[in-house]
Amino acid sequence: MDIKSLDHQYVANTYNRFPVEIVSGKGSVVVDRDGKEYIDLGTGIAVNAFGVADEAWQQAVIAQMGKFQHTSNLYYSEPCAVLAKMLCERTGMKKVFFSNSGAEANECAIKVARKYAAGKKGKDCCYILTLEHSFHGRTLTTLAATGQEEFHRDFRPLTPGFLHAKVNDLADVEAKLDAYPVAGILIEIVQGEGGVIPLEESFVKGIAALCQERDILLMCDEVQIGNGRSGMLYGYMNFGVKPDVVSTAKGLCAGLPLGATLLGEKVEYTLGYGDHGSTFGGNPICCAGAISTLSRMDEALLQGVRERSKKIVDTLTGKKGVKAVTGMGLLLGIDPVRPAGDVISECMERGVLVLSAHGKVRLLPALNIPMDLLEKALDVLVDVLGKDVS
Ligand SMILES: *Cc1c(COP(=O)(O)O)cnc(C)c1O
Repeated sequence: MDIKSLDHQYVANTYNRFPVEIVSGKGSVVVDRDGKEYIDLGTGIAVNAFGVADEAWQQAVIAQMGKFQHTSNLYYSEPCAVLAKMLCERTGMKKVFFSNSGAEANECAIKVARKYAAGKKGKDCCYILTLEHSFHGRTLTTLAATGQEEFHRDFRPLTPGFLHAKVNDLADVEAKLDAYPVAGILIEIVQGEGGVIPLEESFVKGIAALCQERDILLMCDEVQIGNGRSGMLYGYMNFGVKPDVVSTAKGLCAGLPLGATLLGEKVEYTLGYGDHGSTFGGNPICCAGAISTLSRMDEALLQGVRERSKKIVDTLTGKKGVKAVTGMGLLLGIDPVRPAGDVISECMERGVLVLSAHGKVRLLPALNIPMDLLEKALDVLVDVLGKDVS
């Protein structure tokens, strides 16, 4: 059976896939249909926090599968409650709403901001401010939040009430807050999909101060940078700010779909019975996987993330064919002299999987990728990035 032609014939045409079919793997090594091995520096877009087929993670998931796989949110279940407690204790947030994806986690954040502001300042105070180059999801509302015109083009009208300010330009943020009644500001500490653009600490602190002064919700989209990837449990922790809402997904359950919206003190009780819901949200198997994942994200693991990050940055910075290395922790972007697409294909041929992000080569390795594998992959990257570059 030719899986590639089957896929082309029957799967919706939304993904321009690389010519590789993954069939198995272990940790940071994945194997394709022909038995070729790849060092995976993409982890299914920051999802497989501990790589593939990780044993502790598998055990946690399988143990829950043996009990029950789903109950609906009409009943209590232990994995959901225990995971919510862990998330709150690790962040100082007060409550968690569970969903299934990053877009849904952001939808919840946006609903919370609108209801909070409507209650305090009136229903006209409905605007959500995000940043240019941001990415917040593919539903019509999170598309509206996404500050990239190319994603909007064919899908208008989008949900109204969204504004986009310039990255690292606090004066532009302030001008928009003066001009519109804003309920919440939603930011990624490092803009992942938009090109691995890190926000400056002073900018994030400035936004936090403006939010505080004006009783606007500070909301961090931690879908990609969250869950250990920044070298801290959540990206905002690197800057010492305290968001009112945190949305996350991707790496949270390290491979199964789980979204979470963490609610701080101000908005702990904003949503009431019937205000929001999700049939699959808080699924016990996903929550069991996330409990296992989160309990391994201790100081030693985070220290390891920072060491691996330093290794990558030190190895690639200033190398032939590398204009710049941006990002934080293990969400890193390489601005290549060669077209990113060529770098990605040649790395793939040579057994290393890397991703792109707006003209950059994006690296999202597993948080525990063995140093020797990482070094091997970096040797290939250095070679490919510098090839034919004068
Ligand atoms: C991937 C991503 C999303 C969307 O997540 P889905 O699970 O695909 O809905 C939202 N925000 C950020 C920052 C992301 O990286």
